[in-house]
Amino acid sequence: MSETFKAVLLEQADGRTTARLADLPVENLPPGDVLVDVAFSTLNYKDALAITGAGKIVRQFPFVPGIDFAGTVSRSEHPRFEPGDEVILTGWGVGERHWGGLARKARVKADWLLPRPEGLSLEQAMAIGTAGFTAMLCVMALEEQGVTPEQGEIVVTGAAGGVGSVAIPLLAKRGFEVVASTGRAALADYLKRLGAAAVVDRRQFAEGSKAPLDSARWAGAIDTVGGDTLVNLLKGMQYRGVVAACGLAGGANFNGTVFPFILRGVRLIGVDSVYYPAERRGAVWTRLASDLDPDLLAGMVTRIGLADVPRVAPDFLKGAVRGRIVVDTR
Ligand code: NDP
Repeated sequence: MSETFKAVLLEQADGRTTARLADLPVENLPPGDVLVDVAFSTLNYKDALAITGAGKIVRQFPFVPGIDFAGTVSRSEHPRFEPGDEVILTGWGVGERHWGGLARKARVKADWLLPRPEGLSLEQAMAIGTAGFTAMLCVMALEEQGVTPEQGEIVVTGAAGGVGSVAIPLLAKRGFEVVASTGRAALADYLKRLGAAAVVDRRQFAEGSKAPLDSARWAGAIDTVGGDTLVNLLKGMQYRGVVAACGLAGGANFNGTVFPFILRGVRLIGVDSVYYPAERRGAVWTRLASDLDPDLLAGMVTRIGLADVPRVAPDFLKGAVRGRIVVDTR
C-alpha cells in the first residue's frame, strides 16, 4: 500500500469550493526537490479566500491550500538540504498554484525554503507566518523611506488581525507611537498590551470626510484594509508621510484623488511578501527574531488542528479573527 498523509483538501463542484480533511497518497504531491514533514502551518486572510472559495486564489482542483509552513526535511534531492533540517516557507505561490502547507507533508522547490530562523522555534516562526513576515516588510518599508519616531504617530489599520497584531509590537519596539485602528472596540486592551498608545474606531477611515485633504496627522501608516480606508488614510498623512499598503480586507478598489501625492508629497509604498526576493528574506527573519517579544507573540496566537481549518477559515471573512491562527498539523 502506498504511504499516505493527512491534508486539508479543496474540491470544487458547480463552482462551489468545499474543504475537508483527507488521506492522500504521498505520490500525489506535486514535483519538487525537497519533501518536508510539516509540523505547523497557519491561516492567513488569503488562505481563507482560498478555502472558502470567496477569492479566486486556487484555479486547479483537487488542491491542498496553505501559503506557509514549518517542518523537518524528510527527503532531499538538493545539496542545500538534508533529512533532519528544520525549514520554513512563506509565499512563492505555494497554497495558490502549488500544493501548500495545510497538510502533514509538502513537496516543494528547495529555492523556496529557508532554514528555521535562529532564535525562533518552528512554532514561533509560524506564529509569525506570512502575516508577520509582511508586517515586518511594512515596518522596514517605513524605515527605508526615512520615517522616524520623532516625526509623529504611525497608524495601523486592521489592527487586531494577523498583520496588524504583529506590526504593533514591531513598531513600538523601535520607539514609534502606534495608533491602532480597529472595528472591535472590545479588543482595545489587547491592542494596548501589544504596544498601541491609542486605539481609534476604523469608521473614521472607512467613512472619511468629503474634503480632498484632512488635517496632517500621521507620519506613517501600515494599511491592511485597502479600499476607502486607504484613500482616507492618504488624506490625513503629514507632509512627505509614508503609507505601506499590503492588504485588501476592506476592499480592492481605489477611488482617491492625487492631492495627497502632489500637494503633500505623500509616498505610497506597495508591499508584497509572496515574491519578495529570496536573498533578502533571511535579514527580515533575523529582525523578527530579535524585535518580537516571545510573550507578546504567544499572546496573539490561537492554535488549532488540521480538522478545525474548514470551520475556522470563514471567520477571517467576517473580520472575527484575533491575531494569528497557528495550525498544528501533527
Ligand atoms: P486578518 O483577517 O487577520 O486581518 C484583517 C483585519 O482587517 C481584521 O482583523 C479587521 O481588523 C480588519 N477588517 C476586516 N474586514 C474589514 C472591513 N470590511 N473593513 C475594514 N476593516 C476590516 O488578515 P491578515 O492579517 O492575514 O491579512 C490582512 C490583509 O493583508 C489581507 O487583505 C491580506 O490579504 C493582506 N496580506 C497581504 C500580504 C502581501 O504580501 N501583500 C501578505 C499577508 C497579508 P479590526 O477588527 O481590528 O478592524
